[in-house]
Amino acid sequence: MPVFYECQRCTECCRWPGEVRVTAVEVRRMAGFLGLAEADFVERYTRLRGNRGGLALNERPNFECVFLDGSDCRVQPVKPQQCRDFPNLWRFPGCEARCRAVPREVSGADYARLVRQATGRVDPRRKDQVAPATGS
Ligand code: SF4
Ligand code: SF4
Repeated sequence: MPVFYECQRCTECCRWPGEVRVTAVEVRRMAGFLGLAEADFVERYTRLRGNRGGLALNERPNFECVFLDGSDCRVQPVKPQQCRDFPNLWRFPGCEARCRAVPREVSGADYARLVRQATGRVDPRRKDQVAPATGS
C-alpha cells in the first residue's frame, strides 16, 4: 500500500540549509499576496540559485527561510511548489531524522486524494500539472 506522510507543521523543513527554488509564476503570486511589485519582491526576497539557473528564496544567516515567522509561513497560501511537494513527492536520504511527518499506509485512491490536497497538483503522478495555489 502507498505511504502518505502527514505533515505535523513542525517547520523544520523551513529551517535547514538548502535552496527553495521559485518560478516566475510563483514570484508573481507571492508578490501579489504581499502587495509588492514583482521587482521589489525579487530584490528583497530572492537570490540567484547556486547553479545560476533561476531564483531561490533568501535565507537568514541561521539558514531559516526568509518567510518563516515563528511557526508560520508568511506566504502559506501561495508558497512555492517545492515546499508543497515535500515530503510526499520529494525526499532526501536522512530527512526522517528531522522531518516529523507521520507515515500512514493508505489505499491508492486515498493516496492520490491526500497528495492532491497537500501539493495542489491536479494529478500527483504528473509533476507538470499544478493547480492554482489555494493554501494547504
Ligand atoms: S516559503 Fe514558507 S513553507 Fe517554504 S520554506 Fe519558506 S517558510 Fe517554509
Ligand atoms: S514536512 Fe516535515 S519537517 Fe516540514 S513541517 Fe511538515 S513535518 Fe515538519
